[in-house]
Amino acid sequence: MRAIFKTMKRKIIHLDLDAFFCSVEELLDPSLKGKVFAVGGSPTGRGVITSASYAARLLGVRSAMPTREALNLVPNLILVRSGFRHYSEYSDKVMEILRDTTPVVEQVSVDEAFLDVSDMPQPISSIACDLQKRVLNETGLPCSLGCATSKLVAKIANDYGKKQVKSGLSPQKVTVIEEGKEAEFLAPLDIQALWGVGPKTATHLRQRGINTIGRLAALSDADLKNYFGMHGVSMRRRAQGIDASPVHPDSGEPKSVSNEVTFHEDQDEEVSLLYRLRGLSEKVGARLRKADLAGSVVQIKIRYSDFSTFTRQASLKECTNLDQDIFDTAQDLFLKHWVRDRPVRLLGVGVTNLDKPHRQLGLFDNDGAKREELTKAVDDLRERFGKDIIKRADTLKKKN
Ligand SMILES: [Mg+2]
Repeated sequence: MRAIFKTMKRKIIHLDLDAFFCSVEELLDPSLKGKVFAVGGSPTGRGVITSASYAARLLGVRSAMPTREALNLVPNLILVRSGFRHYSEYSDKVMEILRDTTPVVEQVSVDEAFLDVSDMPQPISSIACDLQKRVLNETGLPCSLGCATSKLVAKIANDYGKKQVKSGLSPQKVTVIEEGKEAEFLAPLDIQALWGVGPKTATHLRQRGINTIGRLAALSDADLKNYFGMHGVSMRRRAQGIDASPVHPDSGEPKSVSNEVTFHEDQDEEVSLLYRLRGLSEKVGARLRKADLAGSVVQIKIRYSDFSTFTRQASLKECTNLDQDIFDTAQDLFLKHWVRDRPVRLLGVGVTNLDKPHRQLGLFDNDGAKREELTKAVDDLRERFGKDIIKRADTLKKKN
């Protein structure tokens, strides 16, 4: 008997929580429901909007908008301080539900993930609707889903579907692009909806009247090469809705751990900036140890009063999760790169290149072992009596 080979079409879902931070705030304070509010910034206009409620979006408030601008636009905008701890807890709960549905889940950000459900017998639309109901029932969070034969089309479908809802409420959309209809769906959409078309390329293309993905898909080989170089052929495939990139199941562990702080008033004193840098390093170290992780790259982030932002990083010889190691490196980076006396608005410390902690103890490496023991004892005390029970002598001294 002749075997019949048929390429199995994939079933890919892109899930995105609707106005995630705002939805969590509504769960914590139900009186916010339906209100014109946003997370991020302060009532004095500092900072930027992190997430805007759908009622606020209707009035033009967008994430990444400076808070001052948002308040000028909507003077009665309610500003809510962000509760990052709650966000990661809710995010974890959602990702757990997704991993319970299929092991092939790739978390893209705190509120977004791809799922490959090709192995499940049900139609993709009913898998998506079930997931949407389950996430809402078990976490209280609304979400939208895009379904297609590839990550590319699933993601674009989801973004497109959500934008069609203009009710001032969370969209809770499920958008399905049937197999074979990918190119047709993409054709009328703006070129920048496509992965790989940055603002610069988009400007060039628009000057030539190429505004839609459909027009891009119809470009000649020579034109594609001209615009995208060696990526020309893959761009056409993408414009036709062809994307074979797999959903990479992740371990569910974070890729980096970082903490940052936006000051109520810009800081330009070295002493107080280093004091904050130490506090951030301790927070990052504690989170790493709690997750039983260590990292070999330390990063700092500096945002000046004019919003210009820099990140700098340095590699360590071995992985660490010790406050002192993190702070020493962060301090070196800071002193090397901070433009002295220039007021700082935001400061951040992060550790990446994460791995399980595996300090190699040499014969003479008593110091490392001692510091590890000391840090563990401090963690235990903080766990039992609260985080302020113990502070380093120099942290105490500089506290104002
Ligand atoms: Mg979202």
